[in-house]
Amino acid sequence: MARKAKEKMARQNNDEKKKRKNCSLCADKVETIDYKDAAKLKRYLTEAGKIIPRRITGNCAKHQRMIATAIKRAREAAIIDYVFD
Ligand SMILES: [Zn+2]
Repeated sequence: MARKAKEKMARQNNDEKKKRKNCSLCADKVETIDYKDAAKLKRYLTEAGKIIPRRITGNCAKHQRMIATAIKRAREAAIIDYVFD
């Protein structure tokens, strides 16, 4: 009984590891993110204007960092709002 449960858990862990490679920006071979491209940046923001965490979007660390930097620049340049209504 307990052994079966353990095997099931191991299998689930493997499945999660397999599907982690789903960064949409890697798939598009994106090398730079334009902070003036508000439409693109908004895809990575919640309705409240917060950056959606990587574990939700599935982005890789490199692209998540690029998005965060671009969003911060865009906010300073008043291209996107800090907080949406
Ligand atoms: Zn990526």
